[in-house]
Amino acid sequence: SEIEIQRLDRLNLVGEMAASIGHEVRNPLTTVKGYLQLFQMKEQFAGYSSQLDMMIQELDRANAIITEFLSLAKNKTVELQPGSLNDTIYSIIPLLQAEALHLGHQIFVITGDIPTTYFSDKEIRQLILNLVKNALEAMKHNGTISIKTYQLNDEIVLAIEDSGAGIPNELLDKLGTPFLTTKECGTGLGLPVCYRIAERHMAKIEIDTSSKGTTFFIKFPIRTKQL
Ligand code: ADP
Ligand code: MG
Repeated sequence: SEIEIQRLDRLNLVGEMAASIGHEVRNPLTTVKGYLQLFQMKEQFAGYSSQLDMMIQELDRANAIITEFLSLAKNKTVELQPGSLNDTIYSIIPLLQAEALHLGHQIFVITGDIPTTYFSDKEIRQLILNLVKNALEAMKHNGTISIKTYQLNDEIVLAIEDSGAGIPNELLDKLGTPFLTTKECGTGLGLPVCYRIAERHMAKIEIDTSSKGTTFFIKFPIRTKQL
C-alpha cells in the first residue's frame, strides 16, 4: 500500500545514513569511555567517582542508540538459520519476565506447534525485546502481555498482545518512522528496527489496537530453504 511504501522510503533514507555515520561516531565514544575508565582507577579522581560513573552510563546509552541505529542499515547482512521460533522465545523469556516483574506486570507465553523455518535468532530476539519493551511501557499497572506463536495457513504468526492504552489513529499511520516517539526518554528507534528486521525476514507486521490494548502480529513465511 501507499503507506507501506512511504514507510520503507523513510526507512531506507535513514538506513543509509545509519550505516555511514554509525561507525564514525562509535569509535570516538569508545576512546572516551576508555579514558574515563582509566580515570576511575586513578587516586587523583577519587572525588569524582559518581560523575565518572554517570559519564560512562551516558556513553553506554549513546552507544546503545547507535547500535539500534546501525541495525536500520539496509544492506546489513544477517545470517538466517533453520530453527524453531519457539526456542528463541524461550531463551529470551527469563529476561522479559524479570523486567515485567520489576514493573508489576505479567507475561504469558503460549507457543503453538510451528514448523522449522529460516530466521536470525539474534534479530528475532531483538524484535521481541523491542515489542515487549513497548508493551511494558504502554501499561499502567497490573498489565498482562501474551506472547503467542501459531501457524495460520502458510505463515508462522508471532503475536505480542498487551493490555495497554492502545495506539491513537493519527499515530498508527506514522509508526515505523525513525525517531517518532511519544515518550519523554524514548529514542523512536524500536519500531523502525522491528520493521527492518521484519523486512529482512520477508515478514509482515500487522497491528490491532483499541483502548483495551494492542497486538502486534508478525507474520513469517515458512521457509524451508536458505534464500
Ligand atoms: P520508543 O519506544 O522509543 O518511543 P518505538 O519506535 O519503540 O519508540 O515506538 C514508537 C511509539 O509507538 C511509542 O513512543 C508509542 O507511542 C507507540 N507504541 C509502540 N508500541 C506501542 C504499544 N504496544 N502500545 C501503545 N503505544 C505503542
Ligand atoms: Mg520502544
